[in-house]
Amino acid sequence: MMLCMLATACERGDEEEDYKPVDHLSKVVTQGGTPSATPTPTPTEVPRKPYILCLDPGHGGKWTGAMYHGVEERNLVLQLAKEIRSYLNEHYPDIEVYLTRETNDCFSSDLGTDLRKRVEFAKENGAQILVSLHLNASDAHNLRGTMVCISKQPNINGISIELANALLDATESLGLKRRGYETRNSGDTFDENGVPVDYYAICRHGSSLGIPAVILESCFMDNSIDYEYIKDDKAIRKLAAAEAEAMAKFLISHYSK
Ligand SMILES: [Zn+2]
Repeated sequence: MMLCMLATACERGDEEEDYKPVDHLSKVVTQGGTPSATPTPTPTEVPRKPYILCLDPGHGGKWTGAMYHGVEERNLVLQLAKEIRSYLNEHYPDIEVYLTRETNDCFSSDLGTDLRKRVEFAKENGAQILVSLHLNASDAHNLRGTMVCISKQPNINGISIELANALLDATESLGLKRRGYETRNSGDTFDENGVPVDYYAICRHGSSLGIPAVILESCFMDNSIDYEYIKDDKAIRKLAAAEAEAMAKFLISHYSK
């Protein structure tokens, strides 16, 4: 059993509640004007780069995710996301990278709302793909490798499989076991045709909004062999570089105009 997803119910979330938009949602800046003049700021769209990636460091807020070796999944995946962004900023200046959270703060204290807002954040920022970063764990602490959860919905299933395989190629090249990709149906939620929707909220909302949204479980943080890949800053930087390369090449190959 995969604890990251099951024990923490990290991706289900159907509850709803009001939320407060966060400041970093804004894509508009103002220019001109002085304090003494009549303030008539002119909104100006920030020039867009050709490729836009949204990274979602999983969990955060009151949700720690898996916890082993004295560290929490929510902190490791945030570090991983920032390292991926740093790598892309340095090596792929044409790729704009958004993070759904920069700190431990989330969009909402309600799980269902928070997960939905993460995908909406990607959509509002024009992201072409959304990669939700997680680390796995198992009951017996004996499972290893990378797996990717994807939507089964036809509008994004095909491209999600390609993205999953690109990510799996990258981690496999580092020596991580290739567990593959999987889809999972909701057991109690169905669309208007009676077909079960995706179990994982990130994938489900990704399909609704037309964004390939995948959950990347890079490795098992409770397994001593896999832990080598996230054990310190240097290891996380190496993992981030490989995953960033995969994301960059995928974006360029699929979204070049
Ligand atoms: Zn997780």
